[in-house]
Amino acid sequence: MLDLFGHTSEENNPVWYADVILPVPIPKMFTYRIPTDLVKSLGIGFRVIVPFGSKKIVTGIVGKVHQKPPTAYDAKQILDQLDNEAVVNALQIKFWDWMASYYCCNLGEVMNAALPSGLKISSESKIQLHPHFSLEDPGLVLDKRELVILEALADKDELDMQQCADLLGVKSVHPIIKSLVAKEAVLLFEQMKEKYSPKKEVRIRMCARFAKDKKELEGLFLELKSKPKQEQVLLKYLQEVPIYQRPETNGPGMQKAGIKEAGLSQSSLHTLIKNGVFEEFQVIISRFEEISSSDKEPVLTTTQQEATREIKHHFADKQTVLLHGITGSGKTEIYVSLIQEALASGSQVLLLLPEIALTTHMVSRLLGVFGSKMGVFHSKYSDNERVEVWQGVLSGKYDFVVGVRSSLFLPFSSLGLIIVDEEHENSYKQYDPAPRFQARDSAIMLAWLHQAKVLLGSATPSFESYQNAILGKYGLVQVQERYGNAELPHYLLANINEDRRKNLLKLDMTRLLRERIQEALNRQEQVLLFQNRRGYSPFLSCEECGWTPSCERCDVSLTYHQYSEEVRCHYCGFKDQPPKVCGACGHSKISAVGLGTERIEETIGLLFPEARVARMDLDTTRSKYGYQRILEEFAARNIDILVGTQMISKGLDFDGVTVVGVMDADRMLYYPDFRSGERAFQMITQVAGRAGRRDKPGTVILQTRKPDHSIFEYILKGDYVGFFRTEMQERRRFFYPPWVKNIRITVKHKDRGTAEQAARLLVELLKDIPVKKIVLGPEKGLIGRIKDLHILEILVKLERSSQKQAVFKQALLEKVLEVGFEKPFRSVRMIIDVDPA
Ligand code: ADP
Ligand code: ZN
Ligand code: ZN
Repeated sequence: MLDLFGHTSEENNPVWYADVILPVPIPKMFTYRIPTDLVKSLGIGFRVIVPFGSKKIVTGIVGKVHQKPPTAYDAKQILDQLDNEAVVNALQIKFWDWMASYYCCNLGEVMNAALPSGLKISSESKIQLHPHFSLEDPGLVLDKRELVILEALADKDELDMQQCADLLGVKSVHPIIKSLVAKEAVLLFEQMKEKYSPKKEVRIRMCARFAKDKKELEGLFLELKSKPKQEQVLLKYLQEVPIYQRPETNGPGMQKAGIKEAGLSQSSLHTLIKNGVFEEFQVIISRFEEISSSDKEPVLTTTQQEATREIKHHFADKQTVLLHGITGSGKTEIYVSLIQEALASGSQVLLLLPEIALTTHMVSRLLGVFGSKMGVFHSKYSDNERVEVWQGVLSGKYDFVVGVRSSLFLPFSSLGLIIVDEEHENSYKQYDPAPRFQARDSAIMLAWLHQAKVLLGSATPSFESYQNAILGKYGLVQVQERYGNAELPHYLLANINEDRRKNLLKLDMTRLLRERIQEALNRQEQVLLFQNRRGYSPFLSCEECGWTPSCERCDVSLTYHQYSEEVRCHYCGFKDQPPKVCGACGHSKISAVGLGTERIEETIGLLFPEARVARMDLDTTRSKYGYQRILEEFAARNIDILVGTQMISKGLDFDGVTVVGVMDADRMLYYPDFRSGERAFQMITQVAGRAGRRDKPGTVILQTRKPDHSIFEYILKGDYVGFFRTEMQERRRFFYPPWVKNIRITVKHKDRGTAEQAARLLVELLKDIPVKKIVLGPEKGLIGRIKDLHILEILVKLERSSQKQAVFKQALLEKVLEVGFEKPFRSVRMIIDVDPA
């Protein structure tokens, strides 16, 4: 028999322990004793209820079962197990474990990220009367407060802790409840609230009396002769569910809504239900439309066949292969044939995409091939939809999932292949909250656990992956030919400074760009204009003294949004009306400086009044189908010019686009980050790749103030490898990744001095760790203050040896705890980011 705190009196049997992953911020699993009666049934991946601290009862997941008692504390006992089977499998737990230790975070944080919240249970303790309890029991002594509770239970069946507290007007009810439990007056139990709720459909079917007996049915028809509306309903039903073929009484019937959709009378249907002709019932249905595969098998071109063969050849002795295929080479078709093969061999397949909403054409192509066998895991899905994909993977309904980075956490049991499309994409990195993981790198670990293969695909591979390919760690396969022999777009540089000097610049547009847009419009072709900055202009500025309004809580200037007539902070969401006068000198002439997407949209309206313009950025795509609407309009040629942020650089595949304009190529080049060159190359190549994907060749115009910057040479020639080589030499000299491994520690506090002291102490402690490294900082973050917190950054550069990294990370976690232990630094936040983007 257990007492309230899980101690037991049976001590004879060999004792088993479970390490439980708890949803609380502690670095390790907690060890509990497994009660003898659960030893047989309990295993890894089961949800259990355990006591935590002196009062709390929480739900966790068993991560390990063993016979070693903990040395630092007395193990409490598991109170109960929640399910009859594991909710996560052993491979998932191993994956979580790897992620927590690689990315320096708590296992509980990984668990939180991994389980869809629909599967997390919020448990609360409740009490009910003990079945054997009687107030007449002679030995019973109750105090006044205990009586209050028992009386309330007599007519309420159950009470939760809050209700007890309210009844008694006290904060802590535990002593009272504990005493009532000891007197066997009440029972304590956990009520689980499964947050997931299945979607239901209302159906109707014919009651047994009529369905089984033809005579009764004939009688019914006679009766309904004078009631034509009811007769019509009955006929409609028999048309859908011919009872002569299917007389079963518990059959599937038909959708109730089908009657209304057929334009028949709802009230007649209700009369028939009332009169016992039909009965209503509910069934659980999927939230996703059933789609049957309809597209033809892919017919690969010779080049694509060759690439597929090479990939498989590499898979024979390498786990990972990098597919470097130029934009428009048809990587999707290569994926399709590999996926089909993996599925046919009985394995599961995961295809990761950086952002599903932006790659609708790829998803619909895949749905066309794989139909309802394919699960889609969208970042904008509701919790219920996520749970359905999760369950679909568990039940074997989905052997193939296309999803964003969090789909790595789905309960796969036998992955054979993981494909990471656009593997260079930034959005594979999770910034906040922990686990701050890189989905591409994590995919490789997940595949390793499953003994599966990984295919990384990109037209502009990340330097990390390309380096691994060159070193022979990954297989490398190149496709240098566009499908259907479409030509790669031609690049032209447009010199902003020169046009300004010659007075040819109109509203930030060079003559070349204006002419090319006009020509495209004349030919009724489409144009994409790229500027990686939303809003109207990045800041407002006083024409007299140069003052700019900035955020009160962050060290950034406020972005002007003309559409909504406001200034906004893109870091904390602060909004205000634009200032009418200068905050410094009082002058009233304030002008907008710099280019945002809103402003470009306005410019186009002025320069090309006949063109139909739309804008695609975070502000126009907030709703679930925001992207889709714009993309559909563009595909239908209802838009001539689409202005957008990096959203338009991804996966769009439209035949009508022949001109792509990059409004400000320099903005990407001079961003203060060692990756800015790599990023600019990727971004420009990707957005350019949207042009000329069919028979019509495309032109890409890059507006710049520095046309002789060396990067343009490589971009213009499409020379990825040459660019990679030069940049890598540079990075080697200055100890940048991928030559070294970076770990960034961000220190945040309301008080700048406190943040600085804590950061300095941490740097001192880090220097003592006996692993070869470079420690830089603390330095003020690129943005020194966000939401009133001062930000300091420490950067550690480590050798690539994974063993040394592990030693360092272990020590780092200890040092961070040590600093946080110092009294003045208790409220300092220290965030570790391994491989920061
Ligand atoms: P990538 O992802 O490499 O940029 P896509 O997979 O988007 O290229 O392919 C570019 C275009 O060429 C798409 O419209 C695609 O449908 C078409 N395509 C590529 N390969 C084939 C093929 N084997 N058969 C038919 N169409 C193809
Ligand atoms: Zn001023
Ligand atoms: Zn702000």
